[in-house]
Amino acid sequence: MKAIGEKEMVDFLSGGDDARLYSLADEKRQTVFGDEVYLRGIIEFSNVCHKDCQYCGLRVSNRGVKRYRLHPDDIVRAADLVAGEGLGTIVLQSGDDFGYDAIEIGSVIERIKQRHDVAVTLSLGDRSLDEYAYWRDCGADRCLLKVETGHVKLYERFRCGESFKERLYRLEGIKRLGYEVGSGIIVGLPDTDLFDLMRDLLLLEQLDLDMIAVGPFVPNPDTPLANAGQGGLDQAFRAAALMRLLCPQANIPATSALDAISPGARMTGLKKGCNVIMPSFTPDQFKTDYAIYPGKNTSEMTVQAKLRHVRTSISDMGFVPSSAKGFSPRREYVEQGSARCPAGDHACGKAQCR
Ligand code: SF4
Repeated sequence: MKAIGEKEMVDFLSGGDDARLYSLADEKRQTVFGDEVYLRGIIEFSNVCHKDCQYCGLRVSNRGVKRYRLHPDDIVRAADLVAGEGLGTIVLQSGDDFGYDAIEIGSVIERIKQRHDVAVTLSLGDRSLDEYAYWRDCGADRCLLKVETGHVKLYERFRCGESFKERLYRLEGIKRLGYEVGSGIIVGLPDTDLFDLMRDLLLLEQLDLDMIAVGPFVPNPDTPLANAGQGGLDQAFRAAALMRLLCPQANIPATSALDAISPGARMTGLKKGCNVIMPSFTPDQFKTDYAIYPGKNTSEMTVQAKLRHVRTSISDMGFVPSSAKGFSPRREYVEQGSARCPAGDHACGKAQCR
């Protein structure tokens, strides 16, 4: 497939040819990942956060949240459950919570890696590069750090004065530490338009990522953006599909925010370029308190029942739920000099394919 031009991007994002966009994205996903859908078990081990992002229910100013922190032993127990269910990746996620020091987190990573043959992904926010280097030595494989928006002024407004430059600096630093790196955006944040979205997608492409999350904005009633309009489901689907065309080798999850807008939409995302589902393994008594947006973790099913349901839904759609660790094929291609182009056609536009 030839590189996508600006006019075509605008056309795709404005819904000018959804059938072609989704068909191209599905074809590209199939070429790179076949029928496999990677399952990653996510453990949201703390909803404590000292930041104040305007779009997030976990913001420090939100006094309505019941805060929790899992004891390290309980995090490891939850990881045992993920591995026991046969999933190949454990995602450890929290707010920006400095209540756990680097040694404590490192020890959790080491204990998980000693007990299970799994990949460990960290989603812990703005911790220092020294800490990320230490956790890499402890065995962590991947890191997620979303930019949320590439609009610098909006980034600083919605993240209450945080520095966009610093975010990019941290992302680059994490990459240099040898992690597989993921980032992502929120589609449909207030005061953004189609060209902001285009710029965001191009930024994500330029960052040359292994994982990319593209989810719709879901307003949280307990935040300053309570009355803002919700991000569009179609817009989020289009953005994820276009991302698949821009970065064929990246792992792209169908985000839980899709389901928060329309139950079942996450599965639909698998037909539009996404190849990863991340079921939550946060213990039942805490899962609804990880309230970034309404509708997250609201299922009353047990984690086992939820996982069974996810596996069945994936199979019913003609895919294969996969227990593989699911590293990005980009890694093998870039680092091991594989002759096989993971995008299948040497036309993904990446340096190594030119
Ligand atoms: S988005 Fe992340 S850093 Fe911001 S308030 Fe929510 S949990 Fe904290």
